[in-house]
Amino acid sequence: MQTSDGAERVSAGIAQPESEGRVLVVDDLPANVRLLSGILKVAGYDVITAGGGAEALAKLEAAAPDVVLLDVMMPDMDGFEVCRRIKARPESALLPVVMVTALQETTDRVTAIEAGADDFLAKPIEDVEVVARVRSLVRIKRQRADLESAYDDLRRAESMRDNLTAMLVHDLRTPLTAILGSLEMLRGGQVGHIDDLQQEIVEIGTRSSHRLLALINDLLDVNKMESGKMSLKRSLVSPTELVETAVEQIVFLSGGNAVEITRALTPDLPRMQADEDLLRRVLINLLGNAIKFTRASGTVTIAAALVSEGQNGRPTEHGEGCGQALLMSVRDNGIGIPLEDQTRIFEKFGQVESRDAGRKMSTGLGLTFCKFAVEAHGGRIWVESVPGEGSTFLFTVPLSGGAADDAASSEVDG
Ligand code: ADP
Repeated sequence: MQTSDGAERVSAGIAQPESEGRVLVVDDLPANVRLLSGILKVAGYDVITAGGGAEALAKLEAAAPDVVLLDVMMPDMDGFEVCRRIKARPESALLPVVMVTALQETTDRVTAIEAGADDFLAKPIEDVEVVARVRSLVRIKRQRADLESAYDDLRRAESMRDNLTAMLVHDLRTPLTAILGSLEMLRGGQVGHIDDLQQEIVEIGTRSSHRLLALINDLLDVNKMESGKMSLKRSLVSPTELVETAVEQIVFLSGGNAVEITRALTPDLPRMQADEDLLRRVLINLLGNAIKFTRASGTVTIAAALVSEGQNGRPTEHGEGCGQALLMSVRDNGIGIPLEDQTRIFEKFGQVESRDAGRKMSTGLGLTFCKFAVEAHGGRIWVESVPGEGSTFLFTVPLSGGAADDAASSEVDG
């Protein structure tokens, strides 16, 4: 019997048992094709045949085999070349190919492996060996297909989760802004005098709401940047003012409980074209982490200097021909970060696993936001840390993007 797609089945008539898989047998000698087909059909496989390389390649797409059994010596195109072409097509690159050869020589095996063959069958053919190899390759191919489909499902679920999170978070922002507005009115005395205790309580609420808002903004911006929908709002930014306003805000957000923050800024730093709000939030994130992971008696230092940029975006001491960049860093003498976590913490939801989960307002998104924001400016961010001694987070912002020139003080939309 010939099925609609050309595969021949061993028994015609009533209900067919489910096929074990589909094999494309390629050989120029009809006797060999008959022999292999017979063995495979008896074992429950659908078989498609081709009398040469060109025919095999032409049939490949429509036949969609699970395995190809390929003779090496064929007049039109040898088996190595057919195998090479199968592996070169993206749609069949992962299709298992078994070379059927009478040649035992190592050079042939090497050529076959180089052509991408997955297995060999030596002539004269042994029934059990043919079936065993085909079965094993069909199983591997199906397992790989299952894995790919599970991976696709996971990617779909991940993207749904991200969209849902973004929607929820977006909807949280409006009521939160209203809460903040109300608290600010109370705090400012616009609705009547409040006593010191009430003032303190309102301040706690205000700080927590601001922290929540910062978190929501980070999450929304990470989503925007990931989908390429974020554009920088550049203006001329003074690094010194940037640091001052960031420190001011972090002191407010930590309710005056912040560890002491020392500044180490090179005098007369030039202004740069940058998105001031994004860079300030980068600093606030880094300062917030430095405070969170440092004991109360510890110290946090924020520094800024001009450096020459190396090709990899990291500063060089005096790199000739390289552009200038502002190097900013936040150093703490807190708990530090194990080497194996130092890359992962910049990934979405990446945290140091050995630490307690459930820490307040901890999402593993802050550094992801920082990485996106710095890279959107053409800079790099990285960490240097010794567990038990402290961490220094550093990032660069190239000056080349904008003029360090006070005269050009107009806003440029990036
Ligand atoms: P979050 O702080 O919300 O968990 P982040 O992305 O800001 O998210 O940080 C990711 C993780 O990196 C933190 O959970 C922490 O494990 C580690 N980390 C970040 N900054 C520091 C720091 N200064 N000292 C020690 N660990 C840090």
